[in-house]
Order: sequence, then C-alpha cells, then structure tokens
Amino acid sequence: MPPRIRTLRLAAAALTAGACVLAAAPPATAAAPHGFRPGAPGGGDPYFPAEGNGGYDVGHYDLSLDYAPAADTLAATAVISARATQDLSRFDLDLKQLTVKSVTVNGRKAKYTRKGQELAITPAKGLHRGKKFTVKVVYGGTPKPIERPDIGKFGWIKTPDGAYVVSEPDGASTWFPSNDHPQDKATYTYKVTVPKGTQVLSNGEPGGTTTKGGKSTFVWNERTPMASYLAMLAIGKFQVKKGKTASGVPVITAVAPNRADELTTIHDDTIKAIDWEEKVFGKYPFQSTGGIRVGVDVEFSLETQSRPIYGFEPDQGVIVHELAHQWFGDSVSVKRWKDIWLNEGFATYAEWLWDEQHGGRTAKQTFDLLYNEPTTWPYYADLWTARQAGNPGADEMFTLTAYYRGGMTLQALRGRIGDKAFFALLKQWTKLHRNGNVTTKDFIALAEKVSHKQLDGLFHAWLYTKSKPTTW
Ligand SMILES: [Zn+2]
Repeated sequence: MPPRIRTLRLAAAALTAGACVLAAAPPATAAAPHGFRPGAPGGGDPYFPAEGNGGYDVGHYDLSLDYAPAADTLAATAVISARATQDLSRFDLDLKQLTVKSVTVNGRKAKYTRKGQELAITPAKGLHRGKKFTVKVVYGGTPKPIERPDIGKFGWIKTPDGAYVVSEPDGASTWFPSNDHPQDKATYTYKVTVPKGTQVLSNGEPGGTTTKGGKSTFVWNERTPMASYLAMLAIGKFQVKKGKTASGVPVITAVAPNRADELTTIHDDTIKAIDWEEKVFGKYPFQSTGGIRVGVDVEFSLETQSRPIYGFEPDQGVIVHELAHQWFGDSVSVKRWKDIWLNEGFATYAEWLWDEQHGGRTAKQTFDLLYNEPTTWPYYADLWTARQAGNPGADEMFTLTAYYRGGMTLQALRGRIGDKAFFALLKQWTKLHRNGNVTTKDFIALAEKVSHKQLDGLFHAWLYTKSKPTTW
C-alpha cells in the first residue's frame, strides 16, 4: 500500500506489540491417538500471534461465494486442500465473525469449536504427517471489516452496489477460513455468484461466466501461490479495458462507472509501469496484471496480487508503487511481518527510481531532501526517532518508517556498493526468492555476496536504531 501520511500518529505510541510471545502448541488431548497432536493455533509471528496456524500447509483454496449486495449477505463454501506437516489430531483455521454451518475433512463430518478468530477442527480420524487432506467449510453471514489505528478499516468493505476486499495484514479471515499468514502461500479458485448485471473481478485470470435464474457466477483463477492478505474481490459495476504489456502479459483494468474518466490513464500507466519494472526488477512474476479503481474514495490502495485495488485516483507514482509490490511483497514475501520494510521500503524506492529515470529528481536527491528535513518537520519523529524501520511494531507497520527510512536504506546501500552491484542485487533477489518467503537477514546476506562488501554496520544503522544514522 502507499504511505498514508493522513493517518500518521507521532512519536509516543511506538513499540508495544513487539513483546508478544510466540504461540505454543497446546498439549495433546487424551483422546488423540499416540503421536497425533493438535497443530499450533498461531503461526509463530510475534506481531500477530493468532494469525496463521501450525501443523499443515495449504496448497489450494477453492472458494464458492454467493453474495447478495442488497442484503449484504454471504453464503459460502471453502474447500481447502492442504498437507499435514505433523501427525494431526486437530488443527485451526482463522475465521473472524462469520457463522460456520458445517465442516468436513476428507468427506467426513468433523467436530469444530470457535474461539476468537480460531476455528478449531477435529477430524473423525487423525491426519498423517505428509498426507494431503481436504477441508470443506460451509459458512456465511454479513462480512464486516476490521480496523487498525494506522490504516483504518480493511477486510471486506461494502460499497453501494457491491463490495471489495483489501486484507493487509490480517483481514483475509473476515471473508474466508484460511491459514492467514503470508508464510503459507497457496493457489486460488474463486466462483463468485452475484445478481445478474453485477460484475466480479479478482486476482489472476478469468475462467468464464455463467448466468442462470437471475444470477451470474464469475470464475477467477490465481495460479501462482499467493499470500492470503493479497486475495481480492471487487464486486459491483465496472468498465473494463484489456490489453497487453510489451512482454505480452495480459492486462485487465477496471473502474467503477463513476470513475470512468480514470480508466484509460490507469490502464496506460499500468502498462508503462510494468514495462519499466520488468527492465529494472526482472521478469514479471505473475500471469496477468492490471488494476481496479473502486467507486468509493478511501485513502487506501493495496497491491493485491496481479491486480492492485485503488481506493483513490492513483497517479503514476502510486501505480509504480503498487506494481513494484508484485515483485517485492507479493512474489518475494515476508516470513514475519516485522520485515515489512522489505515490501514498503522497496516499493517506495521504486517510485524514487521511476522519477530518476523519467526526468525527475534522482533517488539520491530524494534521499538528501528527507535526510535534511528539519526537526520541525511534522513527521520527523516517525522517520528518525520513534521506531526501528526493521522492526516497527505491529501497530506501526504502515507509518512512514518502513516506507521512507526503508527506501533510504536502499539508497544508502546503493551509494556504498555502486550502481552495478545494486541493480544486479535487485534482479537476483527477485529471481532467487520468486514465490518464496524471506527475512531481512536473507537480503543482507545476498547484498554482501553480490557486492563482496561487509554491510552489517550499514543495515544496523538504518534498520535497527531509533536515531538518525550519521555514518554507515
Ligand atoms: Zn506499499
């Protein structure tokens, strides 16, 4: 997402959530066969202890969603294909707010309980480590967004004629049961049924539309593994434009009718951005691209995989930012949320580089402007003294630190290792970790390998101090 200066809170709030303890696996129940035990109810991320779950790995989500915009109700079935990573007597999915009607595992009825966002499922038979299994959850209700202090409302957002979804960081579980952490990426099929005349857009590629009895069902397939927070739907009325990038990537751009005047610009700017980014970052990581401009204005856009959602009229810089995330964040994803600068610092730096290579300020000039801002600048504390860019805290992930100080970290690195090594590093990073998960440590190791320089002092100064670096 783009930096949200509007929602910045200054200094004081800082780090509180960093102290969360890891969720441990609960003890095995007496009824569990020997060796079979419940999977952990959390994925082990200190920022979001309840997000994600242990004991299995999802391969594919098949989501059938029947949404009635007028009543704002969802009737849904999720079929989740997964593989057990331990002998499992029980496992959790994340699901917020909605009502569960039934759960089966491998076709047999399974017991389940709800507690907070945990949907704990006990299959009729234990699941053997290494074996594939299928969970079917029938559920529904009125999906509701959730809220964070630094970004406001997110998750499932109702609009006058439909809804759209922006789920970073933990909103996916507001609309489907999931292993809701970027570490467990999976492919997706969506079959979304809406009243005839309403359209549905999503990640990936369209798989056809059928209309029957006053309802239409739209199929979309995301065939490249995707983090749950990047799963996206846009339901409503849209004007659609199709095309191709210079390298032949199909482009689907859609805007709400009241934003029709933005369609051509968003579409053309998307192609310009991808054409340029493929030269700088390497081959585009997904099978299609585009963008969706929703009809309501919110200061929120998100790099939903293959096709970002724009909650405001995006300029070229915002489009460059959200599409840079297709490489940095979507294809190469964080293993833990504290490394969010690997998403936001890189997407911010992509904007600076775009300016540099299109007749604007150089990235170094942008760096210097920020570095020399006086202490009276309203966001001074956020950038320099409030928190670490490499560990900003769960509640402060989307403040300026990860974005601007993250981008400045890359400029400092470029200055140290030179252009040749720096641009080689960007391409190696996206290629080596394509569709994978990474940590800052991985990036430092690769930067040192590519440049043959010791860089721990530089990264420490920029990412892990709460002061303005003076030497690096
Ligand atoms: Zn972003």
